[in-house]
Amino acid sequence: MTAYETTIGLEVHMQINTKSKVFCECSTEFGAEPNSHTCVICTSQPGAIPILNKKAVEAVIKTGLALGFTINKQCTFARKQYFYPDVPKNYQITQAEPPLCSHGKIAITVDGKEKILNITRIHLEEDAGKLVHEIGARKLDYSLLDLNRASVGLMELVTEPELTSAQEAEAFLTELKNIVQYLGASECSMEEGKMRCDVNVSIRPVGQTELGTRVEIKNMNSISGIVAAITYEAQRQKEVLISGGKLTQETRLWEAEEGVTKSMRSKEGALDYRYFPEPDLVPFNLPDSFIEEIRAQIPELPKAKKTRFIAEYALSDYDADYLTSTRIIADYYETALAASKDKKAAAKPLANWISTELNGKLNAEKKDICDSPVTSENLAKLIELILNGTISGKIAKTVFDDMYANSSKPEDVVKAKGLVQISDESALIKLAQEAIDETPKAVAEFKAGKERAVGSLVGAVMKKSKGQANPQLVNKILLELLKK
Ligand SMILES: [Zn+2]
Repeated sequence: MTAYETTIGLEVHMQINTKSKVFCECSTEFGAEPNSHTCVICTSQPGAIPILNKKAVEAVIKTGLALGFTINKQCTFARKQYFYPDVPKNYQITQAEPPLCSHGKIAITVDGKEKILNITRIHLEEDAGKLVHEIGARKLDYSLLDLNRASVGLMELVTEPELTSAQEAEAFLTELKNIVQYLGASECSMEEGKMRCDVNVSIRPVGQTELGTRVEIKNMNSISGIVAAITYEAQRQKEVLISGGKLTQETRLWEAEEGVTKSMRSKEGALDYRYFPEPDLVPFNLPDSFIEEIRAQIPELPKAKKTRFIAEYALSDYDADYLTSTRIIADYYETALAASKDKKAAAKPLANWISTELNGKLNAEKKDICDSPVTSENLAKLIELILNGTISGKIAKTVFDDMYANSSKPEDVVKAKGLVQISDESALIKLAQEAIDETPKAVAEFKAGKERAVGSLVGAVMKKSKGQANPQLVNKILLELLKK
């Protein structure tokens, strides 16, 4: 039987992170009252002239530079003509040739193997408005148009058809999202439609050089959906060919609830967009100094940061991976470290507390680390209290709960609740002796050679001290008493 291989190309739209739209001064704020962020330009009133937002151009170039693209210094715009009700002027301002960025790369790792993927282009364009369909609904039987999103700046990134599996597509999109978020060029929030993806899938017999018939799956808005759609589509195409059928070049839609793709339109009558130069935006050249200024603003990217975290802070691969998974988490960690007295000793416990305790609580409330009630400085202080023996690790969890619930400072919580660790030997000897007297079974086991039995005695002392005894010291005292 013929063996087939899958080829995937992606077109990713990312909303550029600017306060105002790309050709007018309207706000890009998400979730505002419909049509409240509109003006004569983005609603396409006759005679309105677009004005290019410099910050949007900067964001596209910054992304291009970070991904190793060649920046085309000539900046030109074109009108892409088509009729759709969410674009009142019946054309979209975009870049035809050349795009701002040509030929970039992204490295991904799948199953421990690194692969470099080529990206054809990134260009700047404006978004369309949004239709809200209510046809068949009980209250309404028509569509509504919201133009808040019209003319919001987008960067469109097009890959070469070099991805060969759903897992590679997932790794590519995750890496892209992470880098672009690090750059601050886009928030890439797929839930808010700030990152959308068209997926081209084809299959061909292994060994064949030319690509098979391509199917485009439009407007995907979650990575898990993309993975499921590619898996489904590759299998569907294989079944068509195996049963002797023929594939048609078409656009399909992913029906998430049914887990299938459905034909939307065939490509045979493909649209001719009749691109022509945008007369209201005169072509201009980007000065070298402008590009170099942007290059200087590129921050350390996730991969480089991870390598540095491992080298500089002696973290495990796992910890470094988690801490660099977003720029906000990495910044939180490094701010906490900077506030620590003994950076070397604090590096590992800080990483642990962020990835387990803090992350656990934030996750439970679906909060981001930037909304953390525990500041990085306060977490650093808590670690310091553990390291200098003021509180035990167990008490620290109680203190942390209070810090999280009330945004309080750890030293205030320790003071107010009288939680200082008991390291007074004579007090601990007294409690240890009580524990020995009350637990003859554990003592007998210990004397019979079962060293682990001391654990239950430590537990008993901790309980008597309401968790405030210094556990290392308790352990030492118990061993001394038992060996007497
Ligand atoms: Zn506007």
